[in-house]
Amino acid sequence: MNTINEGILSTIGRTPLIELKKVCADFPLRLYAKLEMFNPGGSIKDRPASRIILDALENGDLKPGATVIESSSGNMAIGLAQLCRYYDLNLVVVVDPKINRHTLNILKAFGVRIEKVETPDEHGNYLSGRLQRVQDLLDMIPNSYWPNQYANKANPHAHHQTMAEIVESMDNPPDYLFASTSTCGTIMGCAEYVRSQNLHTKMVAVDALGSVIFGSSAAERLVPGHGAGRSSKLLNKDFIDHVVHINDKECVGGCHRLLNKEAILAGGSSGAVIAAVEKLRSQIPDGSSCALILPDNGERYLDTIYNDEWIKAHFEKSECSIAVKGRAQEVEVDAEESDDLQKIAIIGGGPKGMYGFERLAAQFKAHLVEHKVEIHVYNKTAHFGAGDIYQPNQPEYLLMNNPIGDVNMWIDEQPRPVVPEPLSLTEWLQKKKNRTVIEKEYASRALVGEYLEDGFNAIANHLPEGVRGSYFQGEVIDLEKENEDECYSIHVKTARGDVQKMPHQYDQVLLATGHPKNKLTEEEKEYQQFAQQNEGTGFVPFIYPVNSELQEVAAGSSVAVKGIGLTFVDAVLALTEGRGGTFEREGDSLKYVSSGKEPKVMYPFSRSGLPMIPRGPAPQNPTPLKFFTKKAFSRLKADLHGAKLDFKAHILPVLYQEMNVAFYDVQLKKYEYKVDLQDCETYAEIEHHIERFHQQHPDIQRFDPVLFLSHLDGPDFLHADSFHAKIKEYLEFFLAEAKKGELHSPWAAASAVWRKATPVFGDLYAFGGLEPESQAYVDSRFRRLLNRVTFGPPIESSEKILALIKAGMLNFRMAQNPSLQTSEDDHTFVLYSEDLDESVATNYLIDARIANVSIDENQSLLYKNLQQRGLITLFKNEAQNHVYQPGCAAISREGFTVDESGNPNPSIACTGTPTEGVTFDNDALSRNRNNFVSDWAAMVRKSHRVPSPIKS
Ligand SMILES: Cc1cc2nc3c(=O)[nH]c(=O)nc-3n(C[C@H](O)[C@H](O)[C@H](O)COP(=O)(O)OP(=O)(O)OC[C@H]3O[C@@H](n4cnc5c(N)ncnc54)[C@H](O)[C@@H]3O)c2cc1C
Repeated sequence: MNTINEGILSTIGRTPLIELKKVCADFPLRLYAKLEMFNPGGSIKDRPASRIILDALENGDLKPGATVIESSSGNMAIGLAQLCRYYDLNLVVVVDPKINRHTLNILKAFGVRIEKVETPDEHGNYLSGRLQRVQDLLDMIPNSYWPNQYANKANPHAHHQTMAEIVESMDNPPDYLFASTSTCGTIMGCAEYVRSQNLHTKMVAVDALGSVIFGSSAAERLVPGHGAGRSSKLLNKDFIDHVVHINDKECVGGCHRLLNKEAILAGGSSGAVIAAVEKLRSQIPDGSSCALILPDNGERYLDTIYNDEWIKAHFEKSECSIAVKGRAQEVEVDAEESDDLQKIAIIGGGPKGMYGFERLAAQFKAHLVEHKVEIHVYNKTAHFGAGDIYQPNQPEYLLMNNPIGDVNMWIDEQPRPVVPEPLSLTEWLQKKKNRTVIEKEYASRALVGEYLEDGFNAIANHLPEGVRGSYFQGEVIDLEKENEDECYSIHVKTARGDVQKMPHQYDQVLLATGHPKNKLTEEEKEYQQFAQQNEGTGFVPFIYPVNSELQEVAAGSSVAVKGIGLTFVDAVLALTEGRGGTFEREGDSLKYVSSGKEPKVMYPFSRSGLPMIPRGPAPQNPTPLKFFTKKAFSRLKADLHGAKLDFKAHILPVLYQEMNVAFYDVQLKKYEYKVDLQDCETYAEIEHHIERFHQQHPDIQRFDPVLFLSHLDGPDFLHADSFHAKIKEYLEFFLAEAKKGELHSPWAAASAVWRKATPVFGDLYAFGGLEPESQAYVDSRFRRLLNRVTFGPPIESSEKILALIKAGMLNFRMAQNPSLQTSEDDHTFVLYSEDLDESVATNYLIDARIANVSIDENQSLLYKNLQQRGLITLFKNEAQNHVYQPGCAAISREGFTVDESGNPNPSIACTGTPTEGVTFDNDALSRNRNNFVSDWAAMVRKSHRVPSPIKS
């Protein structure tokens, strides 16, 4: 058989389709890549270039000896250059300064005339300028022809063949097709083919952030190839099922993952396609097949996407090492050691680790750096800044629990941050995302993660002279003391699972490891074993990341969900919205529209059985607390002469008083009562007015803070059916009150009290300020009650929960403290309520709780090893023969870990979640609460000037 092709142009098309097994390996999807780099010109653009030129020659639009003029950022130009050379046509290509050197050289080799447009529009885009130049050249050059790839129908027609090839290569047409968009020729051509053949394939358009194709605002873009500064005449939005916008950073990250995992050196749009799969993952049903068009070769991007310097310049330093090197052992760091070199390790690259990094950078910038400083940040994942909780690749329906206006990763203190523009989340959304921001609304944790990662990169890129940052991905599992000078080396478990001792000795170490995962209890191990042995059952001990952890829960199954807090909301939304269900607004509430892929019914349960009450927007000027103040407690503490506080005797009554004040302040105003409670000096006066108010309005129900917190009374709560109905009513009521806000709803005002009191309470609680038994009571019981009424989910999430109750998908009939058993006969988990004498059987059990921080109970090898080495000890709250151990490490007031000698170790400090128990409410994004890192950084900087390590 003769297999010789005629001429180079006959090799256009018929590119290979390969299965991608390694990138996105943890996704339960089948990914197939169409490698368009195998076209002779190195890209998919050979197809439309060929079709356009051949059509034009055939129909006479293009005559022999003519000059072809086109605007192109690269690949189309090369495609046309090849065609024009072959058919002896002249070619003028209008380019802009973003064109890469490699492409320019190829065009020159083909003898192409280059016209460069130098002036961008106000968004930094060149397209309109390039098209204007094309028009000018067409006017000037006789016998010229403009292929007009942005409107020429031959462009999409060329891709009927592309899609036909994909379908031919697969057993069945793909469920999804991912194609990057610029002229929209590829996606429209493929979509036209899909429609003409009645295929089920869904079309995913991968556009650049800052591109206007799908109606977003224009913004500067770095990576050429996908996205456009103008809308496309070829686009029919009805043909597109999903649009995913990818920013430059994600696109570059995608390219490096393709290279590192699949050994494919591809161009920018291919990276965007990979990033788009990751972003859309939560919306794609498991087992789906996805065809990804990878448009071109990466060689043209060697000076940019694959160049460390370029990455450093555009995406800041950290990203460079993260994206390019990927794993800890591959990060090249010269193990430079000298007496003058100070090395600092930050273990944990989440928000709190970043705060430490930020303060260090600020300190070293503000003061002269006498010797070189190296700051090494270690993180388990590549998400430096975002950490585990705010990973940008999680689903958008997982919301933050603080309104946008509350989030600011920069601290307002001296020395000022090293970055030129320390933006709050609100400012960042406005400036970098072109978003109109409502500060009271709640952002997704993914979006906040982007903000935090951006901040981390900005710091890394603005480190002062003499300070070098390095960023390692891997789990630190041990610290080893190297010599008597308190220097520590670090052992890291890499992504491959091997353990490596890093070639550095650190003078200072900051532990900022955030939330650990807990070990399974004996009971949980039994559930796990039961699930393994009984087909059709499953036990999920920890729900994050939701996509992978909850994926085993089968459609149509029944599920018991343990815990009804914020994690419960995440779990339930992941199993409904995350499975393709949608919420539609119907007047004041939401209606759930099922996808058919979610469980049939979910049974939440907890000790109280109550969901958290929704959190309404905080007003601009909230009413301050009257009695629960720092000053009042300072007086009380002085009276106690240093004795510890008793929560029930000293603190709770004041909290109840404040709840009464807050509630009745709003209630009395509503009924136009003659006295403003804010004007009263004493609580006795306030009580007097509350009494008078009730005398005047005997029908109005009294507010009882105790009942408000526990809220379980009345005969309705005695039966499973009425319990469920009562919960629905309860949520509806508090949702309506939360929407009114704390200035108009007495209930919302009472809810807000604990939010306002927490900072004062935190100071009372810290470092064993409460009696041991009191602290145990707060930790095990009271904190939960208060959090339930104060730190509940945003209104939108609560509306969704209510919609799911109404849709019959959430059933609270067994919610209140049932026992949990397993049934070997029925292969089910069984919730049984003795009080109600009722039971329900479920296929799955999900633990939707976040465990308290306890070193003995968590899985962290690092803390286990530190404990064994005597470098940390457990915190004890001791008084008068009573001892309470919350489970966290003991630290000094400066944040240094206390070692087995009972002394603070001046080289190892701790911040954030691991200090919970010594501190209160340190498990948050706040920069001001329990802020150890400002003093720590100042001290580290000072120790830099005095070479011998400081002792406390
Ligand atoms: C599900 C959930 C939702 C939350 N929502 C909110 C919210 O809406 N608002 C709010 O204020 N707070 C929220 N929090 C609290 C959250 O803990 C803080 O907001 C914040 O993440 C704390 O930052 P961190 O850096 O201390 O911890 P993390 O964000 O947990 O970051 C710690 C980092 O250290 C890394 N790490 C851990 N151990 C090691 C090791 N041995 N070696 C190397 N790296 C390590 C981890 O991989 C992680 O990247 C939430 C917590 C959870 C669990």
